[in-house]
Amino acid sequence: MRSKTNSAKIEGEPRARTFSRDANGSSFPRIGRPVELLRHSYDVVVIGSGYGGGVAASRMARGGQSVCLLERGKERWPGEFPTSFKDAATQIHVTGDENASDERSVPIDRGNPTGLYHLMIGEGQNAFVGNGLGGTSLLNANVFLRADKGTMEKDEWPEELTQEGALDPYYDRAEKMLEPETYPENLPEPLKLKLLREQTDLVRKYGRKEGWDPKFYRVPQTTKFADGRNSTGIEMKASTLTGQDSTGINDGSKTTTLVTYLADAWNWGAEIFCECEVRLIKKHPKEGYLVFFAWHGSRRDAFKEEMLHDLMWVHAKKFVFLGAGTLGTTEIMLRSKERGLPLSDRVGQDMSGNGDLLAFGYNTNAEVNAMGHEDPNPDNPVGPTITGVIDCREQENPLDGFVIEEGAVPRALTHLLQPLLLSLPGKIFPPSLTAVEKQQQKLAAWKSTLLGPYHAQGSLARTQVYLIMSHDANQARMTLKHNKPALEFLGVGRQKHLEKLNDLMSKMTNSSGGTFIQNPFYADFNQQEITVHPVGGMSMSVDGTPEEGATTQFGEVLTGKGKEIYEGLIVVDGALVPTALGVNPFATITALAERSVAAAARKKGITIDYDTVNGPIDPYGNPTYVPSPDHFDDLAAIKKAEAEIDEARAAGKAGTIFTEVMKGYIHIGDEIDDFEVAFDQARSETADAHFYLSVHAWDTNELVSRADHQAMLTGTFSNGMEGSPFMVSRGDFHLFNEDHHAPDQTNLTYDFDMIGTNDEVIHFNGIKVVNPTVAFSISRTWQATSSLYVTLSRPEDNHSIVGKGILHIGWHDFGRELSSFDALGHNFRLRLRTAASFLQYFTSQVATSFLAPLTSLQWPTLQYPGEDPYKKIPPSKTFSPQAIDGEVTLMKMWEPTGGLRDGEKVHDILFVPGAAVDHQIYALPTIKKNAIDYFTAAGYRCWSNTHRVGKTPLAHKHFTVYDARLDIAAALSTIRLAQEQQYGSAPEPIYVVAHCAGSIALSMGLLDGTIPASWLRGVTASNVFMFPRYTPLNKWKASLPVHLTDIYRRFTGSKWFDCTSKKSDAYTQHLLNQLLRFYPAGWNELCTSVACHRSELAFGRLWSHDRLNRATHDQLDRFLGGCSMTCLDHLVQMGLHGKVIDSDGCDLLDEDHLQKLQGLPIQLIYGTENAVFDPSCTLWDYERLRQKFGEQGYSREAFKGHGHLDCWMSETAAVKNGVFDVVRRKIDEGFDRFMSRSRKNSRRKTVGNSMTTVVNGNGIRRV
Ligand SMILES: Cc1cc2nc3c(=O)[nH]c(=O)nc-3n(C[C@H](O)[C@H](O)[C@H](O)COP(=O)(O)OP(=O)(O)OC[C@H]3O[C@@H](n4cnc5c(N)ncnc54)[C@H](O)[C@@H]3O)c2cc1C
Repeated sequence: MRSKTNSAKIEGEPRARTFSRDANGSSFPRIGRPVELLRHSYDVVVIGSGYGGGVAASRMARGGQSVCLLERGKERWPGEFPTSFKDAATQIHVTGDENASDERSVPIDRGNPTGLYHLMIGEGQNAFVGNGLGGTSLLNANVFLRADKGTMEKDEWPEELTQEGALDPYYDRAEKMLEPETYPENLPEPLKLKLLREQTDLVRKYGRKEGWDPKFYRVPQTTKFADGRNSTGIEMKASTLTGQDSTGINDGSKTTTLVTYLADAWNWGAEIFCECEVRLIKKHPKEGYLVFFAWHGSRRDAFKEEMLHDLMWVHAKKFVFLGAGTLGTTEIMLRSKERGLPLSDRVGQDMSGNGDLLAFGYNTNAEVNAMGHEDPNPDNPVGPTITGVIDCREQENPLDGFVIEEGAVPRALTHLLQPLLLSLPGKIFPPSLTAVEKQQQKLAAWKSTLLGPYHAQGSLARTQVYLIMSHDANQARMTLKHNKPALEFLGVGRQKHLEKLNDLMSKMTNSSGGTFIQNPFYADFNQQEITVHPVGGMSMSVDGTPEEGATTQFGEVLTGKGKEIYEGLIVVDGALVPTALGVNPFATITALAERSVAAAARKKGITIDYDTVNGPIDPYGNPTYVPSPDHFDDLAAIKKAEAEIDEARAAGKAGTIFTEVMKGYIHIGDEIDDFEVAFDQARSETADAHFYLSVHAWDTNELVSRADHQAMLTGTFSNGMEGSPFMVSRGDFHLFNEDHHAPDQTNLTYDFDMIGTNDEVIHFNGIKVVNPTVAFSISRTWQATSSLYVTLSRPEDNHSIVGKGILHIGWHDFGRELSSFDALGHNFRLRLRTAASFLQYFTSQVATSFLAPLTSLQWPTLQYPGEDPYKKIPPSKTFSPQAIDGEVTLMKMWEPTGGLRDGEKVHDILFVPGAAVDHQIYALPTIKKNAIDYFTAAGYRCWSNTHRVGKTPLAHKHFTVYDARLDIAAALSTIRLAQEQQYGSAPEPIYVVAHCAGSIALSMGLLDGTIPASWLRGVTASNVFMFPRYTPLNKWKASLPVHLTDIYRRFTGSKWFDCTSKKSDAYTQHLLNQLLRFYPAGWNELCTSVACHRSELAFGRLWSHDRLNRATHDQLDRFLGGCSMTCLDHLVQMGLHGKVIDSDGCDLLDEDHLQKLQGLPIQLIYGTENAVFDPSCTLWDYERLRQKFGEQGYSREAFKGHGHLDCWMSETAAVKNGVFDVVRRKIDEGFDRFMSRSRKNSRRKTVGNSMTTVVNGNGIRRV
């Protein structure tokens, strides 16, 4: 099933652009997709893109299948092929082992693994193949010759294929696509072709005794000699007759698989991915196969080890077609076998070099003009690399058959050729040269050396290239040594046969006065040949058994157990060919591939549409068809990514890439909440984990300037879990995003769903945290930027936790990460600018934290972006309680939002704030669930008053905390009145939650009787109650010989200290703000907020920064007021006394006062990091109360990691077992029952072990 796309109408003819002719040739088509767009499964995965791969991709796409093609090399179009030696040298990849049979020797792997030219050194023979989108068709000499009847009747072929004409329909199909044609008679005959033609008689004479019947003809070749569209719809150009085919031709005349089968596959919806080297295949646990590959893109080769071992994968549901060429396919299958895929023992055996011989007729009498040239003389063209053949295949014994073709040397090699040929040993000089002729030859050699390879009188211009294909013993084999391929050609040459052919070529050369020279490998390396036509390795079995071959006649891979096959695992390239063909092989490889793919389709009931002819194809545009959406479950994600990539590309945006490896330990299980603990636990379980991810920002500008913009992550995550390695595709990477949960904190986040080999989806969330705690510390900065806190969860199960842990970057890996960094853009300046802007952004972000105390101060903003994002319910009513001294304060009331606790009566809680704050600490608009939200939902009616030392204009009137008790009494009276009015009965006791100065004021009111204890159901005293004792720093401030309040009064002339400050304030306030940068807050608590610094001076640090979210911290001026010097002086005095005193300094804690608290349940809560009051001060209350009234009714609970105000203003207050839960449990207890009981028991004072509870974010730990 497929559908037509709305591809843009093609204007004019689409073209294969050519480098030399196209002034605008800087941009080339790309039919390959970025690997970031790879889906996790397809119906069909095709490996390699030569003839076999091309056929499979095109036919399967035409059969309506979703197709993914993975190709190791890069995509290059005419105009992008190297022409100079310097450029060509960067494209060489050398592998293999010249001592393959020696167990001790280790194969090499050098050069560029995605380079265009792959030379495999073997023992006895070397092989040269192409590597790129189009396979060896990009480099070959285009000769399209069918195998002869004698060869097809050889014993190695299965019977069906030995039938006369068995392959003809498939040759015809290949011809229809590849459109071979012979060198036109109306073009000037190339001199090398003329010479070969003339040599036919000599060959005939030479082989008369043997009964040879040599036939000379112009070869059918896949070269275009006229402009026009090819069979697929791609526009081609007429050959410029350059002889450059073997290094890749730039004139647009070559009918490669790129411009035929692959373009067709693309046009029918196949998705093509380059730089993906398939390493092995495994069976998928449910259906089909897992194809594991190393992705060479995104500079992943900076991590060589990881690249070949941390393999990415794709799932092939129905078919895997192996088209990686003889060498590639055999290597993949050998490795798959080694890694547990049972296969026939013939894998890697029965290989052949196709009897290839390469040799030179150097410095002949006549001009041959076989040196490739980008711009040859049209009257004396070089011609395509091969144009003619002397065909000697018709022999009694087909094994004696051979063909001789003329060749051309590509320009990139011409300058090396002369010194190379002169230096080679084993030359066969023409006999009986006269002295004059000898001098003429020397002169010609000098001319080539001095005047270059194209000088008509020079030796190179007179050098002929011979290419022979014949039959060898099919005795070569490939093995894996140290995970690398090694080739052994055993008895490759059928020595006698080889000697005869060499003798023939030397005769041909000498007869034209030239010197016969073997190929460089033969001469220099122990008589080694070189083949460009390796075949076999996964040969078809003559009888379908694994003893005779590795596959069936249709390329289906045998399991090794009888005739059993792996359904859908099919070899379609040269590896399938069971014997040398005695002629150029690609026509036969293509025909066999057509046959195998047709058979596979038939078997699965797939109908291939061979008939629909493409219209003109524009490889710059969109394909005509796409597979039906039913094939995919990731359409939306792919569409979004595609749109992002297309947009960046269309706008010519510059991107950035780098690759990262992080290693560590992840504990699997949900019982450990803390990352460090989970890491330690995982380490003890050796549950190591790592990822190997590439980051691609398609538009670097966007990444660094827009908070909502992310880069894409691609790669793998591996740990011991089932389904590992997990594939990561299109993951989100955010660079220094503001953390909304923590002030002054930016995070690097890694967030993605990843899919396991068992199809399970796991969500990965990783955060690197950078905040001012790193200030002035290189080691902390490194620690912060190199530690990733990881949470794994299961998206399908409501993100239930799968595991937690930490991954780190090692120094060595960091070095490699830096070397993988690259900026992408269409010119050097753009790339430079991009790299600079990325690095500048990165360093400036890190520097902001590193230099945090020195960076600009954060001032209050008038506009709060995203104000009230949580849509808080406003108070139901506002009251104005009047205290007995006549002062009026404000009190807000919120009706319950949840069901009432006893179904009828509403129970009241009064929340009393501290100094310089108001009801907002309980009704905070910047957190999702504040105390009021929580307790109203729990069925309570909540009240909160702002007493006279809170954030209120009254606070300027120089009241003390002691005075504020009157406001609490007034508030309680107001509530009691409301109760009476509502129920017409006596008021009920009220529960009071009081914080800091509010709690102190409450205790004072209770102690001096202003507030009768009987009005109260119970009290939660937050962080302090009757014993205000300061932390060491606050104590030191309080005990200074000159009080800070006096200094401030003198310095500013003001009796009011405002916790906030504006830019318009007096310079004295500004000076103070600047000095406060250096207030000793502790490294973990550095910030730049003016309001935070100022409140810290007045009271001590009011929170643990990591508990406040960014929105709260950014808007502190909204929640903080100020304090009069009178109030501060009173607080200082209390701190010095260590207990509550009234405004005149009189002690309120004598026994009589204390007695008033009898029977009042009191819960004391405190943050373990409280920096205002010493966390132990509530212990004094606790002990004193129990000492006086017995242990019942009192509890003390600690909140780990919390400071002072954050006990109420933090998002974690609402988590399970957080502050709200713990306070609510106390309120929920039936206190009135308890109160009557406790009064009865008041005289039976018991001393027992009571419990202190330490509460962290999520759970209570008893200590
Ligand atoms: C210089 C030269 C001239 C030639 N001239 C002729 C000629 O005139 N006529 C003729 O018939 N033959 C010629 N040949 C040979 C012919 O081109 C090959 O036999 C033919 O291309 C083989 O086709 P294939 O499908 O088996 O593999 P290939 O065309 O070699 O394609 C294999 C593809 O798989 C890719 N690959 C390899 N390993 C992997 C992997 N692990 N993962 C993913 N991809 C991988 C490779 O990069 C390559 O693109 C010539 C070869 C050369 C080198």
